[in-house]
Amino acid sequence: MIPISTLAGKAVALFGLGGSGLSTAKALVAGGAVVTAWDDNAESVAKARAEGIGTGDLRQADWAAFSAFVLSPGVPLTHPKPHWTVDLARAADVEVIGDVELFVRERRARAPHCPFIAITGTNGKSTTTALIAHILTSSGRDTQLGGNIGTAVLTLDPPESGKFYVVECSSYQIDLAPSLDPSAGILLNLTPDHLDRHGDMDHYAAIKERLIAGSHTAIVGVDDAYCEAIADRVTLAGKRVIRIARHRPLGEGFYADGSRVMRAEGGFAEVFAELDGIATLRGSHNAQNAAAAIAACLSVGVPKDEILAGLASFPGLKHRMQPVGRKGDVVFVNDSKATNADAAAPALSSYDRIYWIAGGVPKEGGIVSLAPFFPKIAKAYLIGDAAQDFAATLGDAVPLEISQTLERAVAHAAADAGGAGGVSAVLLSPACASFDQYKNFEVRGDAFVSHVAAIEGMTMLV
Ligand code: ADP
Repeated sequence: MIPISTLAGKAVALFGLGGSGLSTAKALVAGGAVVTAWDDNAESVAKARAEGIGTGDLRQADWAAFSAFVLSPGVPLTHPKPHWTVDLARAADVEVIGDVELFVRERRARAPHCPFIAITGTNGKSTTTALIAHILTSSGRDTQLGGNIGTAVLTLDPPESGKFYVVECSSYQIDLAPSLDPSAGILLNLTPDHLDRHGDMDHYAAIKERLIAGSHTAIVGVDDAYCEAIADRVTLAGKRVIRIARHRPLGEGFYADGSRVMRAEGGFAEVFAELDGIATLRGSHNAQNAAAAIAACLSVGVPKDEILAGLASFPGLKHRMQPVGRKGDVVFVNDSKATNADAAAPALSSYDRIYWIAGGVPKEGGIVSLAPFFPKIAKAYLIGDAAQDFAATLGDAVPLEISQTLERAVAHAAADAGGAGGVSAVLLSPACASFDQYKNFEVRGDAFVSHVAAIEGMTMLV
């Protein structure tokens, strides 16, 4: 845990006592702050109280006495409208911050030079974060991995020289971290997502921009117009910017050329890394992730040979294009993390003959943008709320069935696939959120794995 010394002796309000909120409250108390924590959920409040956290209804509190208000990233700061606690904090002129802000202040106070890599973007954050952490760990560095990827940042070890921090940041966390100042900040890409919580694309992009605007070295994927404009703006502001491209060569920076990551300097390019044969880094999206990881690791002083060794031994992440089983010439792939069409595109582009399981709670635009991949889909198995909509989009272009449940979809796809010459993939890449049928994408992915394991003759790879 990182005790927060920067608010020692101060009165601090905190709202949101879910997993990361509770860890934040404990870190504040451990550092000597006087915390008044609250949540709409009475059970969470009781649990916090039982763990020695001061609690109190923030509607009744004297806000003028608070030095800071710490909000959980899951609670609306701006959209669809500010949470009532945010209104009360603003009325009393109390700053509204989150756990990542507490971390960066603590790092500045204790060990301002210890390397800190922050990662954001619409897609690829967790893969890039895990890859960087793997390169650092496997080369013997003391690596602290946390943030949006699952381990609350304040549960990591306190900053001290020699430690490397690798922190995935959601836009909500950036929004609550006004002084975010990583040694290397990565913005991978920007496509519409979570706009219900950010209003519109301009606002969403402006939040993401803040992560790299505050970085010592800014690493930006320039394949979309928003990120390209951001890279230009941050360059003009005098920052060191390293550009990454997935779809075109660059004169300066890192770009993907098939399965190779190229490094370009002054118009000359050389192969930096060959990803062919690294099963966990298939696809041009992973070349983008690898390029960003390479740039970040170089910027904090990791030598090339150690980076290459780390890339080659990357074990990959669960639920992201994860091969989980094989039967004859059919591979079964769990890409449950693909909760929108953009995220499903890489998996659809990585296999030639696909038995595609899709559906759940659809995002705006559905699967219209995936039309270029439809010719590769041997058959679609549609589940959940989106089934009828997706069937309408697929129309006559793709054979399909409304399977309704994942279990039926897996059984039917397994029966249909194979024998077509070459490798076929039964692919769960739903392009949807999971909430209609599962608690989250992890539970959905685990269910897929157990349905796959139930098929006769299956060789499991996990
Ligand atoms: P995030 O943490 O941003 O959600 P993940 O690394 O967990 O990203 O990957 C989520 C999904 O997005 C996966 O299904 C993967 O296939 C896809 N993906 C991964 N990297 C990229 C990328 N650079 N661009 C687009 N899609 C990506």
